[in-house]
Amino acid sequence: MAHIIDGKAISAQIREEVKTAVAARVTNGHRAPYLAVVLVGDDPASASYVRGKAKASAEVGIESDTLTYDASISEQELLDIIRRLNDDDNVDGILVQLPLPDHIDDRKVIDTIDPAKDVDCFHPASVGNLVIGLDGFKPATPAGIVELIQRSGIETSGAHCVIIGRSNIVGKPLANLMLKRGIDATVTVCHSRTKDLPALARQADILVAAIGRANFVTADLVKPGAVVIDVGINRVEDATRERGYRLVGDVDFDAVEPIASHITPVPGGVGPMTIAVLLQNTLMAARST
Ligand code: NAD
Repeated sequence: MAHIIDGKAISAQIREEVKTAVAARVTNGHRAPYLAVVLVGDDPASASYVRGKAKASAEVGIESDTLTYDASISEQELLDIIRRLNDDDNVDGILVQLPLPDHIDDRKVIDTIDPAKDVDCFHPASVGNLVIGLDGFKPATPAGIVELIQRSGIETSGAHCVIIGRSNIVGKPLANLMLKRGIDATVTVCHSRTKDLPALARQADILVAAIGRANFVTADLVKPGAVVIDVGINRVEDATRERGYRLVGDVDFDAVEPIASHITPVPGGVGPMTIAVLLQNTLMAARST
């Protein structure tokens, strides 16, 4: 029987810490941290993520506005908006909700954000700081995973962490975080071309699944006693639910839970952590101005 890592509780703890720090800043005469969220188009999932970020910000005393633009906005207009936010001393953090419409180059938009306001940690300067181990903004989902691991009292020094998935938002930044001094894991990153992935996964003391395929991690991929972190969010059909589907991770939870030492559930594991780290980053941005 594994210990179930409670992402909701750990996320609430971090949000409480940010709230206390924000209140202390305001008491000391600073204005509240301010986050500008840019939303382009009317994708319902993006709109829902943005609402969640605005609500969580408000709950900890971070002010935010969602600047909403029609999907027809030109790339140039959007870049000009980002530059104005860069120049505005009242804006601490800038977050552009991705994906953007096809005619806008995501990379150009991210590269235009002032690295001092890059609370999503997507700018090449932020990623560079991460790779060479400098302090700075933290990549939201990977840093959330590290918080889950550390706050659960799991030893990382010398542990073999096997990450399945090499995306720019999860696998690669997580590999860099796990290698950092003070965390000191030995890291293996697996991906779609990896040979004999099950053999590598079975070596993991900490196994992270960030693939995007339901039930990819079966019990035979897990060493008994391993820590299993499930990043995946997948929809599977479920006629018993009113909406016709339910969300599951990348791990076959029922089969893996009995052999793991710790495991994150989906939902309620990694998911709630991403917003908590965004709030930490916004507080950090306000502190640096
Ligand atoms: P992605 O599609 O960008 O990357 C998936 C990775 O999995 C790729 O690197 C690919 O090489 C690897 N992969 C695919 N098939 C594979 C196979 N058969 N064998 C080995 N590796 C394989 O995805 P992503 O953005 O990193 O997201 C991964 C999952 O995590 C998705 O389900 C996503 O919804 C979820 N996610 C959750 C959060 C959260 O807050 N909980 C945040 C980001 C992503």
